[in-house]
Amino acid sequence: MSPTRTTPEQRSAKLEAAHRQLVDAVASVASSEGWLRYLAAMHRFHDYSATNVMMILFQRPDAQRVAGYRTWQALGRQVVKGAQGIAIWAPCARRVEREDETTGESVTARTLSGFRLVHVFDVADTEGEPLPEHPAQATLLTGEAPDGMWTHLASLVDSAGFQLELVDDIAGRPGANGVTDFLAHTVQVATSGRSNASQVRTLCHELAHAKLHGPSTSNRSRELIEVQAESVAFLVSHSFGLDAMDYSLGYVASWSGADSEVVLATARTVQRCAAEILAGLDDDPPS
Ligand SMILES: [Zn+2]
Repeated sequence: MSPTRTTPEQRSAKLEAAHRQLVDAVASVASSEGWLRYLAAMHRFHDYSATNVMMILFQRPDAQRVAGYRTWQALGRQVVKGAQGIAIWAPCARRVEREDETTGESVTARTLSGFRLVHVFDVADTEGEPLPEHPAQATLLTGEAPDGMWTHLASLVDSAGFQLELVDDIAGRPGANGVTDFLAHTVQVATSGRSNASQVRTLCHELAHAKLHGPSTSNRSRELIEVQAESVAFLVSHSFGLDAMDYSLGYVASWSGADSEVVLATARTVQRCAAEILAGLDDDPPS
């Protein structure tokens, strides 16, 4: 036994300490002034219905953030001349006079009378004041991954019964770094423009999905599973001596709504999963 061998107890203490760093970092995002400004701006954007999301992506596959003409104005931005709007369905309400059953008085109510096409615009077709950015923007890692990290994680993806595929970009998911498909049993990692360190962090994120989630857990909220997967990626990276905070904090803060309690509540699950991933290794690399 080498003198640097890490015992399971030492490992779990280290994982707990690293997780605490992440939780504290999320808490500090939530208490920043930038977070309130960001929330106020985001509050103005609608959550579109599934049909409208499809319509938006069909007409404008690269759309980043869409809103109506007046919402952009309220955010200090103008739709540029000649911009082509994106047509979506908006509900129409009609006023109806009703008699209140208890008082007998006449009251006005609004009722859905149908839908009409309205136009929204992508942020790329607007100009003016910059939108408040997420105070902890996830930044892709740069540089090389620690030796052996990729091989170790790739072998675990394989043992989990998933086929690992390297692709330039994830089809139909612009900007996504990776995807785990529970039906096809594949894990895809996007490589184009991503450093070696960034790819290995993505691999770990997808491995966590493969181990913790599945088709039967698809009813769990997307927010929760993303917080879990990225927290595991952060912990495992940390144990390998790779600092993933620049990326993981932004990701975990956005999916948790910068709620450190949400992140803390996953502690046991993510620390156990990280310990399992690291279990095959004799020693933690020097940190
Ligand atoms: Zn994910």
